[in-house]
Amino acid sequence: MEKDPSMEDRKKSTRAVHLGGVKSSVYGEVVPAVFQTSTFAFPSAEEGAARFAGERPGFIYTRLANPTVRVLEEAVASLEGGSGGVAASTGMGALTTTFLALLEQGAHVVSTDSIYGATHLFLESDLSRFGVRTSFVDTSNPEILRDALGPETRLVFIETPTNPTMKITDLEAAARMAHEHGALLVVDNTFASPYLQRPLRWGADIVVHSLTKFLNGHSDVLGGMVTAKDPQLLSRLRKASSTYGSTMDPHQAWLILRGLRTLALRMERAQENALRLAQYLAGHPKVTWVRYPGLPDHPQHAVARKQMEGFGSMICFGVKNGYEGGVTLMDRVRLITLAVSLGSVESLIEHPASMTHAAVPWEERQQAGILDELVRLSVGCEDFEDLRRDLDQALSQVGK
Ligand SMILES: *Cc1c(COP(=O)(O)O)cnc(C)c1O
Repeated sequence: MEKDPSMEDRKKSTRAVHLGGVKSSVYGEVVPAVFQTSTFAFPSAEEGAARFAGERPGFIYTRLANPTVRVLEEAVASLEGGSGGVAASTGMGALTTTFLALLEQGAHVVSTDSIYGATHLFLESDLSRFGVRTSFVDTSNPEILRDALGPETRLVFIETPTNPTMKITDLEAAARMAHEHGALLVVDNTFASPYLQRPLRWGADIVVHSLTKFLNGHSDVLGGMVTAKDPQLLSRLRKASSTYGSTMDPHQAWLILRGLRTLALRMERAQENALRLAQYLAGHPKVTWVRYPGLPDHPQHAVARKQMEGFGSMICFGVKNGYEGGVTLMDRVRLITLAVSLGSVESLIEHPASMTHAAVPWEERQQAGILDELVRLSVGCEDFEDLRRDLDQALSQVGK
């Protein structure tokens, strides 16, 4: 599979539309074909042996690699600035593959405290059974991060902005500290997407995505991806992925490739809506506070300005009347959809205290800043006025 070398100099919106310049055509087809096959015939025994030995390129079996999936891997790697990618059936598939491939018994992980629920569960309840210990700390504070690092630390795992609290960690500082301790920096870049943030540029070693969110962008497919700069690290991850088996299906890859082409359009529209909604919410009498990286009162606004190429379309805010207020708002929105997940063309709203984070003990939630009144809003591509009006009528019912 060839790559158009001129694509390196193109802007990110062009690279998204042209799928990173990957040339995969067989008959001149403009859109990559779906190679819906589980296995690939070898022209001879000698060729089969050479492919298995890694001496010649060519596909063997779809769990190991597939041409349609490869196009997606190359496209996301191009957007992130990685040397290649390893696709997975889900974002969690990409994350568990990464952790299992790189950790051993006795290893220590330092992780952001407020992270995606399933990732938290895997680190705390599953990896711990194999003797891997994780410290969950506020990585947005560099001193706290430094204090958590130790001689056994193998990975520093960061989400920035965090889910759902929108805290931001300085990637450059985190990479430096991780490397001083001989650890790798792994970043879950799902909330920003490579359109707004490229952690490899700031020294991260591995970037993981739930493609289910912004990169696919239409709430209709699941998918995951791991990218890295170092080809050796990448081949370790590919080998692990082929063995563990959370591989992406070709049809799934084809659908995500379709979503990916409009990444720039979707991100630009959604973040324009998000900034205006954040400003509107900040002045609303039923709203107690707003956290959006693009607002100057965000505690890490300066870090966001430095490392992000836009502030994204995720907002969290507090409503009057605490838990009850949050529940009321969920029941009153009409245009905005009450659903978990994020990063789609339609706006989605959820209440972490009663939904995604309800299983986290109350004290732990308070400590991580996931307050009862906190509402998470993933702003979509609808008309701004329609979104504002929907929030306005819903908020007017809060505290009645
Ligand atoms: C959704 C999400 C995941 C998990 O992705 P799936 O595709 O649902 O497996 C991981 N990290 C973050 C930040 C997410 O938002």
